Amino acid sequence: MTVGILTRNGRALHASLPLGRSECVLVVDASGITARLPGGDTLQIPFAHMTHLRQGTRQQILVFESPDGLRFTTEDAGILADLRALSHPAVAAMLGADATRRLGAWRRKVLLPLAALVALVVGGTAFVFGPLVDLVLALVPESVDAQVGEVASAEVVKSGRRLEDARITGPLQVMVERLRPGGPAIRLVVLERDDVNALAFPGGTVVVLTGLLQRAESPEEVAGVLAHELAHVKRRHSMRMLVQRLGIVVALGALVGDVSAVTGLLLQGAATLTQLQFSRGMETEADDDGVRLLAAAGLDTAGLSAFFGRLAKEEEQQGGDSSVSALLGTHPLSRERMERIAELSRENPPAAGAAPLNVDWSALRAALAPEARPAPR
Ligand SMILES: [Zn+2]
Repeated sequence: MTVGILTRNGRALHASLPLGRSECVLVVDASGITARLPGGDTLQIPFAHMTHLRQGTRQQILVFESPDGLRFTTEDAGILADLRALSHPAVAAMLGADATRRLGAWRRKVLLPLAALVALVVGGTAFVFGPLVDLVLALVPESVDAQVGEVASAEVVKSGRRLEDARITGPLQVMVERLRPGGPAIRLVVLERDDVNALAFPGGTVVVLTGLLQRAESPEEVAGVLAHELAHVKRRHSMRMLVQRLGIVVALGALVGDVSAVTGLLLQGAATLTQLQFSRGMETEADDDGVRLLAAAGLDTAGLSAFFGRLAKEEEQQGGDSSVSALLGTHPLSRERMERIAELSRENPPAAGAAPLNVDWSALRAALAPEARPAPR
């Protein structure tokens, strides 16, 4: 969990302060927002007791309040990003409630009739795009992602034998930790399946198939694919696709601010998630973020492009056939995208002197050999 790196200029207001107020810097930490006063004193509002509202003519003043009348205000909207980065359920609910309130006034006047009209015209199942998707996602706390991810991944997790061999899972855990030190927990599932693929689900379930581990030629290549998958999770790409797929129905729910209805719809639709394919734009984002994650972790950024490149070539040779293409099926790869990844890798070499990945690759490979594993019962 990130603790107090970013500070935001603001004010603390409370009867106990001289003149009732003081300039301060605000810091988001794991349990609340802390105000550091010029004299060195600190005041804290824990998330558990915090309410949030906006003031000002442009609603530009962010206010955080405790029941005993302590208030922090700031115009630095960056604090909202600090809060969201925590993925704390109470915080997500608080920010969701704020988004709903802000919609209140003109959703009734403009948005709702408009959405109803659109639904009428296009028959109710139209895809929704851009700002409307953002709106729905702003309303849905990230804690819902994990629930959706659990439903969505259930079928896939059942589709192969789950391997718990520490020689295989251990190195993958090391890679995830290296890529996202101290980041939110990732649930890693390794399945014995020959197709070459890794799948990321909302909330952080990442399924790695043994076919991918067989086909990779170095741990850096696996780390490259993991970095790409983690980027999909972080950007809530699957949630986006799901909202687009559910279309106007879920958008209507969001427009009337009904969080539980929206959550229910998302959970109902979750099982269809594996049939959806990331858009070209999402793949580009995941590549870009993935390469940056690798570079920041001091890992060889060439792994991702090397692995994708080899798969693309094999697929070409086999005429688009077979298991080799599974990864490319869920993450469509174009020549343009290939070149972009390669270029990004060149631009983002790993930092000099970074430690190599501390994993036992040969033990992992040995554990993957069929004779190394007990026969299924
Ligand atoms: Zn992808």
